[in-house]
Amino acid sequence: MIIELKESAQASAADLAKKVKAFHINYQDKAYLITGSALKEVPQDLEAHAANFWVFANDIQLASKKFQQEKRSVNFGNVTIGGQSNQTILIGGPCSVESEEQLRGAAELLVGMGLSTLRGGAYKPRTSPYSFQGMGLEGLQLLAKMRQDYGLNVITEARDATHIEQIIEHTDIIQVGAKAMYDQGILRACAKTQKPVLIKRGFGTTLQEFVQAAEFVLSGGNPNVVLCERGIRTFETGTRFTLDLCGVAWLQEHTNLPIILDPSHAMGYAYGVNPLARACVAMRIDGLLIEAHPNPKVAKSDASQQLDYPAFKQLHADIQKVAHSVGYKIV
Ligand code: PEP
Ligand code: MN
Repeated sequence: MIIELKESAQASAADLAKKVKAFHINYQDKAYLITGSALKEVPQDLEAHAANFWVFANDIQLASKKFQQEKRSVNFGNVTIGGQSNQTILIGGPCSVESEEQLRGAAELLVGMGLSTLRGGAYKPRTSPYSFQGMGLEGLQLLAKMRQDYGLNVITEARDATHIEQIIEHTDIIQVGAKAMYDQGILRACAKTQKPVLIKRGFGTTLQEFVQAAEFVLSGGNPNVVLCERGIRTFETGTRFTLDLCGVAWLQEHTNLPIILDPSHAMGYAYGVNPLARACVAMRIDGLLIEAHPNPKVAKSDASQQLDYPAFKQLHADIQKVAHSVGYKIV
């Protein structure tokens, strides 16, 4: 249940929250208490203080259309997505930060194309301990340097809670990876900042569990959450994962969160990334996360799915036409 407090009760919101074991957040100049969805009636202690309340069938509450019909708008530095913006942000860059030269090349590519946001993993959540694990703090510092040199927003992922504070400090957007989205240490730390958080769907995660991960961040006080569909595991082995566009339609129907799609990880092969990106943009999504590398063959991670720079430019040109046809703009 979500309870909106009367203005007169705002000063005692923290005490009231404690009394009924609820979360307490301030959102758009109002104070709210949030309990589990099992609660269906306003507790007696709160009756005199409630201005409004919402009852839910399950724990998708703050993220639900029932609570807020309009899509949330989230600022990625100087670019706004969601809300009424009708913009699809194209985020590009390598899977892993590998060197200054590589990252600077990616930054220059984006700036030359008029794009605003650079991706690159510094802490890589690899499935084998023998694979490249990322440059760690040095990689984060390189991303921060690119922000400084080129005025780009940077996004990078947290692998676990041990370095989440470093990630929050050095990046503009925090990426919670598909394997990390169940890590409550990460989610709780993300709730304590106001920086935007992009949560990727685990490949064995139901839509309900996915949105509940977002609820951890929202109920902890950070309203700036974006969901990212990056492919789920099915019986199919011909592609790396299966991009769940039905799930995207479900999220658009039931949640108020902006949605970014990552066809690179879903497909696993560069050849499918452009057509999938076009299909995603046709769904009026809020963003795309695309892996690009100066020489994908020698990439230290996800070599087969990364686009070379000419292919990335082609994708940009192709999705602009699709965006235009559905009333959106690529930014
Ligand atoms: C990535 O973005 O490089 C990544 C590891 O993605 P995911 O968490 O979706 O596997
Ligand atoms: Mn990758």
